[in-house]
Amino acid sequence: MSNSRFSPETQMLGYGYKPELSEGAVKCPIFQTSTFVFNSAEEGKAFFEMAYGKPGHEGEEPGLIYSRINNPDMEILEERLKLWDGGESAAAFSSGMSAIATTLFTFLSPGDVLLYSNPLYGGTHKFVHHILTHFGIEVIGFRAGLSLKEVEKLLLKSGQAKKLKMIFVETPANPTNDLIDIEMCSAIAEKYSTADKKALVAVDNTYMGPLWQHPLKHGADVVLYSATKYIGGHSDVIGGAAVGSKDLIGKIKKTRTFFGTMIDPHTSWLLMRSLETLKLRMEAAAANAEKVAEYLSHHPKVEKVYYLGYTHRNNPGQQNIFEKQYLSNGAMLSFDIVGGEKEAFAFLNNLKHIKLAVSLGGTESLAEHPASMTHSDVPFEEKQELHITDKMIRLSIGVESYMDIIWDIEQALEKVRLPQLQPLERVI
Ligand SMILES: *Cc1c(COP(=O)(O)O)cnc(C)c1O
Repeated sequence: MSNSRFSPETQMLGYGYKPELSEGAVKCPIFQTSTFVFNSAEEGKAFFEMAYGKPGHEGEEPGLIYSRINNPDMEILEERLKLWDGGESAAAFSSGMSAIATTLFTFLSPGDVLLYSNPLYGGTHKFVHHILTHFGIEVIGFRAGLSLKEVEKLLLKSGQAKKLKMIFVETPANPTNDLIDIEMCSAIAEKYSTADKKALVAVDNTYMGPLWQHPLKHGADVVLYSATKYIGGHSDVIGGAAVGSKDLIGKIKKTRTFFGTMIDPHTSWLLMRSLETLKLRMEAAAANAEKVAEYLSHHPKVEKVYYLGYTHRNNPGQQNIFEKQYLSNGAMLSFDIVGGEKEAFAFLNNLKHIKLAVSLGGTESLAEHPASMTHSDVPFEEKQELHITDKMIRLSIGVESYMDIIWDIEQALEKVRLPQLQPLERVI
């Protein structure tokens, strides 16, 4: 069953599940139970010893105890999640935020420095600034697109470089699709690691994963996901995951047991179902996104398209990162409409099929206005620096017929009145 000859998409159908343990059921049932019966007191004792890492049980299968610690649905889901990234181990969580928070609390202690890329997902940004700093952790942000020398300079300027414990990045950056070189982060982490303190690299791979970017292969230590997005893929569950080495994920799982941030059996089961179609969904969405980007890039009411397929056009310096790190142009894109908030809102209010909602990675296409919605909390100057302006609209492209998506965009753009008549239109 654990046949690594097979591709992840093949393994998603059955890997890690033994029908003989569930009355021969082809599919893994939902083990909707909080606790598990031990065959004997001795067995219960041994299971607890294993769960808490006591010696003397090397090579033994850890037994089921209680669903905050382990549950078959959660465990089988984890077995499958690790396959896409080529990780040794995975941990599943109740949300992307609980995966991120549990991981950061596992490795950061008061006095440590966290270096993070800007912009970050809003929830992560708040967590880093309002909760980690409260626990005495120093946080330093760097803008996506900076070179190794520039990032290092920022770190050294803080006078705390020796205390670097973790680099946390999101690449591509949301909503501008700026890229960060994971190998560069790994080189910085290595340089500031000491014998008793290894600095780790964590990558939030929600935007591209688990199909289109594999951070572990570029030197990352932990990969994090909001499984709410592509992994869940139907905009109907909240979940999260961390993938990495047995050692690191083992430590994260220990923290998870005491925070109680694990995933529940029913959501695990839904995510296993989602994983069976992950590749089909993501590939269909990426193919649609390419058509939509192409359409937008020729529209007179569109000033600029932020799409990974246009990295060479928008930011030639980043093309080599794109080529070594990405396996697809993805299905997330943004564009600047000619005008400002008024025109952006007119477009959003006139969409007929595409839903006006935050989130991403679902089967249906979504549109939102980063400056006033997902990124409304980013200070004005930072927004300017990151090019998150009032004229920007973010699209998460789904699996509909691309012709319907483009039809909707076209009719909504038609209804947008430009601030003044464009010279081009006057000539025509
Ligand atoms: C949505 C999201 C999160 C948070 O995930 P939840 O499942 O909503 O907790 C974290 N990072 C990124 C990049 C996201 O898009």
